[in-house]
Amino acid sequence: MKRHTGQDRSITDNWRPATQAVRGGTARSEYGETSEALFLTSGYAYDKASDAAARFAGEQVGMTYSRLQNPTVEMLEQRIALMEGAEAARCMASGMAAMTAALLSQVQAGDHVVAGRAAFGSCRWLTDTLLPKFGVATTIVDGTDTQAWADAARPETKLFFFETPANPTLDIVDLAAVCGIARERGITSVVDNAFATPLLQRPMDYGADVVAYSATKMMDGQGRVLAGAVCGTAEFIDKTLLPFVRNTGPTLSAFNAWVVLKGLETLDLRINRQSENALKVAQFLEARVPRILYPNLQSHPQHDLAMRQMSAGGTILSLFVDGGRTQAHALLDALELVDISNNIGDSRSLMTHPASTTHAGLSEQVRTEMGVTEGMLRLNIGLEDPLDVIDDLDRALTAAGLPA
Ligand SMILES: *Cc1c(COP(=O)(O)O)cnc(C)c1O
Repeated sequence: MKRHTGQDRSITDNWRPATQAVRGGTARSEYGETSEALFLTSGYAYDKASDAAARFAGEQVGMTYSRLQNPTVEMLEQRIALMEGAEAARCMASGMAAMTAALLSQVQAGDHVVAGRAAFGSCRWLTDTLLPKFGVATTIVDGTDTQAWADAARPETKLFFFETPANPTLDIVDLAAVCGIARERGITSVVDNAFATPLLQRPMDYGADVVAYSATKMMDGQGRVLAGAVCGTAEFIDKTLLPFVRNTGPTLSAFNAWVVLKGLETLDLRINRQSENALKVAQFLEARVPRILYPNLQSHPQHDLAMRQMSAGGTILSLFVDGGRTQAHALLDALELVDISNNIGDSRSLMTHPASTTHAGLSEQVRTEMGVTEGMLRLNIGLEDPLDVIDDLDRALTAAGLPA
């Protein structure tokens, strides 16, 4: 396998993220295929027994077993690292496998973790339920309150963990300020960047140490496969993350890696068009529902910060109706185009009621603190003509008792 037709890393490593999304990490076999090859193999053969021994000893470059390395997965890992501006990346079977590995590989009993309050439901389960079970204390803070991060830090604090924008409240964390507090105190910041992707926001440019992804969302972008990734320094990936993932096995399948490689080729186009569409839909909804949250609307409480950190508003917005779950469900049931679905980052517009789906596993008290109310709906805007999405919402809002 050749790394790429261009062999000069001083050139190829400096391509901009949209170029990396198409070409970064490409390695070609002897056939010179233009599209990345799919290597469906679990094992590798050696010419001689001494080669096997040398590879296991780390003295010979090469692959040994697909839980540890696979050429297709490695292309995706290099591509994501190059897009992120990270030294290295490792892919996992899902976003949650990535989050779990990013956290568990770094902590031990007696450590302390500070996490943002607004988070994907399973991320809150990691911090609220899993870590404490193994003697890792966690403090949950309002991620938008920079001082709260400083106040929560203790001498034994190992990690800050947060999403920005957060799911589904679209809370924005001040990356430079919060990662700065972490750096000052020797704390590692771990940022879940699933909503923005490196094309809208690169947390490492603001001082983040580790960036983790659900690649299921915008990176695949067409609702096909589950995937995840963790990016960091080569030292973090090799010495801290790798021993954990190689031995616990949350490995990404080569097929799913190949699908995400194909997804990344169109990420720049998709995320920018979907962000434009989302802004149009958000402007329509703003005049129509009691409350809406979208980072690129002036009415978002952290609009200025969001647009300093992000180059567009992203594909997701949240809207609120006054009639609680009954009215929220009625709105969903009246949709003709937008699907009732809890996925996001898809090229299709999808809407869900977080309190009864993605965040149903959390207690009502945690949901209320987070801002996930019974009248909240989360909407992922896809690649359809936004006027058709607006027509659909218009009709469904009227049917649910919210006429123009
Ligand atoms: C979806 C999501 C996850 C989990 O990713 P999976 O690929 O579904 O395991 C984690 N964090 C955020 C912000 C997400 O949106």
